[in-house]
Amino acid sequence: MKYYSTNKKAPMATLHEAVVKGLAGDRGLYMPESIKPLPKEFFDNIDKLTFQEIAFTVAKAFFGEDVNEDDLKNIVYDTLQFDCPVVEVKENIYSLELFHGPTLAFKDVGARFMARLLQYFIRQEGKEQVNVLVATSGDTGSAVANGFLGVDGIHVYVLYPKGKVSKIQESQFTTLGKNITAVEVDGVFDDCQALVKSAFMDDELNKHMKLTSANSINVARFLPQAFYYFNAYARLKAMGKADEMVVCVPSGNFGNICAALFGHRMGLPVKRFIAANNANDIFYNYLQTGKYEPKASRQTIANAMDVGDPSNFARIYDLYKGDHDAITSLISGATYSDEQIRETMKACFDTTGYTLDPHGACGYRALSEQLQEGETGVFCETAHPAKFKETVESVIGAEVAIPERLAAFMKGTKQSVEMSKEFEDFKNFLLKR
Ligand SMILES: *Cc1c(COP(=O)(O)O)cnc(C)c1O
Repeated sequence: MKYYSTNKKAPMATLHEAVVKGLAGDRGLYMPESIKPLPKEFFDNIDKLTFQEIAFTVAKAFFGEDVNEDDLKNIVYDTLQFDCPVVEVKENIYSLELFHGPTLAFKDVGARFMARLLQYFIRQEGKEQVNVLVATSGDTGSAVANGFLGVDGIHVYVLYPKGKVSKIQESQFTTLGKNITAVEVDGVFDDCQALVKSAFMDDELNKHMKLTSANSINVARFLPQAFYYFNAYARLKAMGKADEMVVCVPSGNFGNICAALFGHRMGLPVKRFIAANNANDIFYNYLQTGKYEPKASRQTIANAMDVGDPSNFARIYDLYKGDHDAITSLISGATYSDEQIRETMKACFDTTGYTLDPHGACGYRALSEQLQEGETGVFCETAHPAKFKETVESVIGAEVAIPERLAAFMKGTKQSVEMSKEFEDFKNFLLKR
């Protein structure tokens, strides 16, 4: 399979090249040249398959031309060593719990899958060490760091905004050591992302070391997230509830919903999608006006979605050839203030007993407001509520237990490198490595 750039000014790439480069030379995002539809029989029988079996079929459609089948199966089964349950929250509204991975984040799947795929290519090729740069507003860093931890031949630099991620999040990527270096940037998430993007464009740096990204712009990170949506359909089908499925994705960089849209293009029977946002309403405004106007990100209590210029918008735009009508007829939007998010968490807990995290709350609320007669709604619960313990507890007035896996990270010692937001500083630091 060849991959083209959304900016159409860079040469086509192989999967290997697309994974290693992350961003195309013209700053565009890689897109697969074709998206293979899956056969009707697959969907007819999907409710009898496990999450792993479903994912392997989907993975073959994406990567089967480029990865040996046995190795691909190993990568998929190694990545998905946990479940992805669909839980009823209230009538016709279900939570797709994407937080049962190693760091309790949905990004665990893409991160681990990418680490294993990159390792597969490095082993084929020889010895050169690969350096992964990743900017995080919280959850990406922990998922990537843990996905890559101990994978030989790869070093990871996690850039995060100083003081703007929760203690639990921070502990998940600053306490690991080994092949993981945490870089604490004096700025906001967009500054971290800008440093990473500049590094990829810098010739001197790229001669010095082999760089790749693990942000959701990387095809190996965002595409595997499609597995979740096939699984959601399968589990709802088993309950006889899949006929008019509406999928609602709390979105920041739009990688997760973009993967869901790829699933739809492959034939996954989703009636329509909702992209739920916090106060960062760039996509919402695009849906209303047809104009994409990035802004500086705004800090909210759903901080993993504090993105003012969502990278994967370019992919969604490309997928529908820029046709605003096509996009708005399939996807609607929602945007919520912190106050509304709190209100929703409290109301949901009081009426249903289900504990939402601030991100999932955006999804739940959008479905509650927009679901129509006869439809079944599934929203992604993208993080375990314990990752936002203080916020959640103060809102619902009840205690949220910290799962053992999270508590273990908190016991480690923080190690990080302090950095300004100036590219020259970051570059000099990398040149000395
Ligand atoms: C990353 C993240 C999101 C946003 O996902 P995108 O793919 O960037 O749209 C939502 N919720 C949580 C908890 C996240 O970590």
